Amino acid sequence: MPDFSQLPSVEKLTLALADEVSLPRPLVTGYVKRALEQWRERMIKGEKGPRNTIESEIRAGLQSFAASRLQPVINGTGVLIHTNLGRSPLGDRAAGALRRIATGYSNLEFNLLDGKRGRRAGYLEMALAVLLDTEAATTVNNCAAALVLTLRTLISPEKNEIIVSRGELVEIGGGFRIPEVLETSGAKLVEVGATNKTHLKDYAKALTERTALILKVHRSNFYLGGFTAEPAVPELSALAHQHGLPLVEDLGSGAVMNTDELAPIDHEPTPQEALRNGIDLITFSGDKLLGGPQAGIIAGRAELVARIKAEPFFRAVRCDKLILTVLQECIDDYLRSKGDEIPDVPVLNFLSTPMESLHTRAKAILAQLGDLPADISIVETTSQTGGGTMPKAQFPSVALEITPQKMGLEKLAHRLRAQEPAVVGYVHEARLLLNLRSIFTDQDAPLTEAVRGALQP
Ligand SMILES: *Cc1c(COP(=O)(O)O)cnc(C)c1O
Repeated sequence: MPDFSQLPSVEKLTLALADEVSLPRPLVTGYVKRALEQWRERMIKGEKGPRNTIESEIRAGLQSFAASRLQPVINGTGVLIHTNLGRSPLGDRAAGALRRIATGYSNLEFNLLDGKRGRRAGYLEMALAVLLDTEAATTVNNCAAALVLTLRTLISPEKNEIIVSRGELVEIGGGFRIPEVLETSGAKLVEVGATNKTHLKDYAKALTERTALILKVHRSNFYLGGFTAEPAVPELSALAHQHGLPLVEDLGSGAVMNTDELAPIDHEPTPQEALRNGIDLITFSGDKLLGGPQAGIIAGRAELVARIKAEPFFRAVRCDKLILTVLQECIDDYLRSKGDEIPDVPVLNFLSTPMESLHTRAKAILAQLGDLPADISIVETTSQTGGGTMPKAQFPSVALEITPQKMGLEKLAHRLRAQEPAVVGYVHEARLLLNLRSIFTDQDAPLTEAVRGALQP
């Protein structure tokens, strides 16, 4: 029988640890109980733990648990749409609207003119359709849901085959693969072509009376180069339409603005172009280059969008009022911006920030860090859009490069992440870099403080 007397009591340990983390007391108790239970099992298996080892291990675990609470982060990675860091930040207008709707009642499904029940998201759907220059649009929880819902609606027990090119079966991150997501709709994937080349005749050969639709998936997070081929969208669209089938495209990011006009990067296909080229329905994310909240947007032919909205599964993945509010604000912002004006979308503003202003900010920050035990300098580096957009796109940026004199780089990175707000940088060629392109101007002061806090002995 193991010696459980080595284990501290739940009460004593909770008391000792509660002041070290600012968590609700019952949560500390709950954490300690579970941790002691695990130690009990480890001891039954023969492990011995002197009391202070046990305590310090549980303390470290609790600190790591406390740090996992959702909190603001200064993004010094230079990756503008970083899925691990919450993708697109919202503009001030959208955030303000969110507060107004969140803290009160609203006309979510109420018609203020006749005092009767109203249509949820009617305004947003019309605004999206106008922005995307198409017949109709709707929104759901995210792009993966948009895709599954679309396929579910367009297949039937007799016609459940979806034709898709082998070169487009991507993994979208976090281990989620497009083919697996697609199959949850009940569809059967018919893969055509080779990884590098798919021709129109490959699609044509795969058509049967069981075919429900042809699907294109935008290669959003990898680049296929060299000996490659794929049919032009208008050709593929003509083939689908000759057979009375819809052509659907999952665009992933779906930049509504021509982002290549904002920064020296490759052209990211816009939803408007895809629809103009003959795609019947497109799906894309709300929180990638659009710069809105997590959402999935479905747009295209009115008759197809109406069928999607009538599918019972639509109810399971619909957006809540907070998301609808933010999207409404974001889409109105796009519709209001004229000519070269950039909407109130931080990611687009980051993309277009001139190098000179990054240099000016870097100099101002550096001037305040002269007395620290580190070599700090300003370097030119690159940034990426990220979030499964434009995989080849690297564009110029400016970073602060830090070599600490009294600690290792990993230690410095760790200490920066432990600041409030947390700062996330990256290590490149034995230096720690803080890339300014993904940092808001009003974060320069807290960033300076955080660097100071992290470097101080
Ligand atoms: C990012 C991405 C998705 C998933 O979008 P979510 O909004 O995260 O569900 C699907 N398809 C492609 C091509 C993507 O790039």
